Amino acid sequence: MGRVRIDLHTHSDHSDGTDPPADLVAAAAAAGLDVVALTDHDVASGWAEAGEAARAHGLGLVPGIEISCRHRGFSVHLLAYLLDPGHPELRAELDRARTHRSTRLQTMTEGLQRAGFPIDYPAVLAQTREGATVGRPHLADALVAAGRYPDREAAFADVLHAGSPYYVSHYAPAVLDAVPLVRAAGGVAVLAHPFAGGRGRVLADHDVERLTDAGLQGLEVWHRDHGPADVARAAALADRLGLLPTGSSDYHGAGKPNRLGEHLTAPEVLERLLALGSGQSFVDGRAG
Ligand code: AMP
Ligand code: FE
Ligand code: FE
Ligand code: ZN
Repeated sequence: MGRVRIDLHTHSDHSDGTDPPADLVAAAAAAGLDVVALTDHDVASGWAEAGEAARAHGLGLVPGIEISCRHRGFSVHLLAYLLDPGHPELRAELDRARTHRSTRLQTMTEGLQRAGFPIDYPAVLAQTREGATVGRPHLADALVAAGRYPDREAAFADVLHAGSPYYVSHYAPAVLDAVPLVRAAGGVAVLAHPFAGGRGRVLADHDVERLTDAGLQGLEVWHRDHGPADVARAAALADRLGLLPTGSSDYHGAGKPNRLGEHLTAPEVLERLLALGSGQSFVDGRAG
């Protein structure tokens, strides 16, 4: 067998991916992955199904959540692995964010509807699995279904990006609070795509230093939204601050071009990550 293939960042239809968790794990097996993390936005509801599928396919499954956070007024995504999703404070924060995401998506939908777009909120909900964390991608899917745009990307570029007049923000915890909360819930805190400039302003090195003081344990280094300079910067910073350097696809099924396994995490990094997390077990379907 060749080198162990590990992808630590994916989304199912429990948030804005398009595959149900079991299909995502089957696709991970077909892509030749040995270990995959399921990291839906703000929700852990896909873990059980993904864990069962991991056992069936002989894969390892790292349970995770990508928590939408803010820092100095801009959006930051925090990957949290092996955390206890029942931790009361953490749960309250995630519930609050998810509730506000629904209200916000409804407001965005109504704004577009008033401007004459062929859309209403039931049409958006028709694009989501019940109980999923809703987001702009579902609104994009509804606009695509209505024939207004060819794909999510086009809808984002035209009316859904953060600078759009139709954009509405949603509640998100401060990342300086979220990191210690993830740690309190037994989780491992890793910053997702920290220098992905296409999404808006990015963190300064001193922000990452401050987050490390607050308990941050890793940086996503290898990610499609990082150019070569971003990768070099993240890798150097992870090295200097003693943070785990991870690599991942950020797979969203048919919702994005990202392919499973397009970026990988080293086996030694996974070993260290597994040793740091205590809120939830790694499902090692590879054990047989
Ligand atoms: P939200 O969390 O509702 O603000 O939506 C953000 C999500 O939209 C991200 O997690 C991405 O998955 C997705 N996204 C952001 N930009 C794009 C884009 N240009 N094309 C497709 N999906 C995007
Ligand atoms: Fe997403
Ligand atoms: Fe993200
Ligand atoms: Zn993601």
